[in-house]
Amino acid sequence: MKRRPQRCKILASLGPASAGPALMRQLVSAGVDAFRINSAHSTHADIVALARKVRRVAHRLQRPICVIQDLAGPKIRCGTLPNDQIEIRTADLVTLQPRKESDTPSIIPVDCPALFKDLAPRKTILLADGTVCLRVQTASAEEAVCRVVQGGTLRSRQGVNLPDLEFSGGAVTQADEAAIRSALEAGVDYVSVSFVQTRRDILRVRELLGKEPGAPGIIAKIERPQAVDELDAILTVADGIMVARGDLGIEMDIARIPAIQKRIIRRARAKGRFVITATQMLESMTRETYPTRAEATDVANAVWDGSDALMLSGETAIGRHPVRVARMMTRIVAEAEREETYRGEDLKKNAPVTALAHAAVDAAVDIRARAILVFTHSGVTAARMSQRRPPLPVFAAVPTEQVARSLAIRWGVEPFVLPPQKDSADQIGAAEKTLLARKWCRKGDRLVLVTGSQPLRGLDYTVKIMLAGSTDSARFHDSLTEKDLLP
Ligand code: PGA
Ligand code: MN
Repeated sequence: MKRRPQRCKILASLGPASAGPALMRQLVSAGVDAFRINSAHSTHADIVALARKVRRVAHRLQRPICVIQDLAGPKIRCGTLPNDQIEIRTADLVTLQPRKESDTPSIIPVDCPALFKDLAPRKTILLADGTVCLRVQTASAEEAVCRVVQGGTLRSRQGVNLPDLEFSGGAVTQADEAAIRSALEAGVDYVSVSFVQTRRDILRVRELLGKEPGAPGIIAKIERPQAVDELDAILTVADGIMVARGDLGIEMDIARIPAIQKRIIRRARAKGRFVITATQMLESMTRETYPTRAEATDVANAVWDGSDALMLSGETAIGRHPVRVARMMTRIVAEAEREETYRGEDLKKNAPVTALAHAAVDAAVDIRARAILVFTHSGVTAARMSQRRPPLPVFAAVPTEQVARSLAIRWGVEPFVLPPQKDSADQIGAAEKTLLARKWCRKGDRLVLVTGSQPLRGLDYTVKIMLAGSTDSARFHDSLTEKDLLP
């Protein structure tokens, strides 16, 4: 059996572009480790047949391939619109009605009667990938009248997202229950649960799947703000989770998604759950033969964030170049894993000045110092501290404007010029005075003082813990005790 050298795995979504055994074989050869079957677009017979095909391909290639069946959950879509497209104007009123189609542009059909029970005045409704925003004014079982907060173009069958509404029915619909029966018959390895809100959704799926050894595992798709809030509870009951950036990026401020991705991955790994980063990873390759720079970088960053696996969605399900995109993802993963940063080797074998700078940063973090005060002649000691990205300011006392300017570009470094004084005590005193005068720190703040490349007289290559502006040595000693540091 051929060994797969990359450690971060690839999950490919199956669809018309990839459903045949020949394509599946090529995808596995291109580096795919797992396939996702979409329940929403598959009948019971499709699901069983697809899973069987994957098993045959895996057997033939002598590779263990994981099959994941995706439960659609309460995914809500608009119905058919007049001419399949309408323009919605900001500040207008529109009406949502529970029906399959509409021939009036002011009536938006949403074929989900259950939704109208949960809607209430002031709730937000997002359409067209979050680009159109409505606010509910009045709601009943027959219709919801909404004010358009942000207008735009809406096409038939586009998704409807309700960020501030908890679905009273939970994440598991009747269609999902039927899909779970197919999953059991098909013998899939995992089911992925869409629009999870609480751990109860996972427990419900567990109940339906059974608990016998060999029963499919459960992946919680984190794509609602409620799930981000409930992350730890969900992690205790799910086998793995997915950073489902598609819907998450609609339901939460997109500016927060990169940070939330990192947080979800970190928490999942801390609990020993596997984590899949998903959606738009190489989106442009759905049509193009080459990804954008941003997409290539996103794939690599997801590897460095610590993802167990990366998912391809439309790229392999309906895209023009499913095999090419899988190969591209494999190559980017391989290069990312070759990078030293990923192997944690970049901070080893350092020169003494670097070792000193890093030790000072560690000490400052340990004692929760307010800041680091570094005396640096050439700037190199401050630069080495910045390299460590300390979570506190690095105030750099330097001899000339030129050195100050050269440090101004460095991450987290705040340089200031300090003329030479007659001895080290005066030098430290002058620096403290400057910091206090500029309100960069307050009297009594804990500081870590460092002297680097051109040492102060009598203080060569030193790390020292001190209190700003305090000559009170008793107070200083008190501040160094463990007791004092306990919160
Ligand atoms: P989906 O889930 O592709 O099934 O919608 C992933 C996501 O929302 O990112
Ligand atoms: Mn989704």
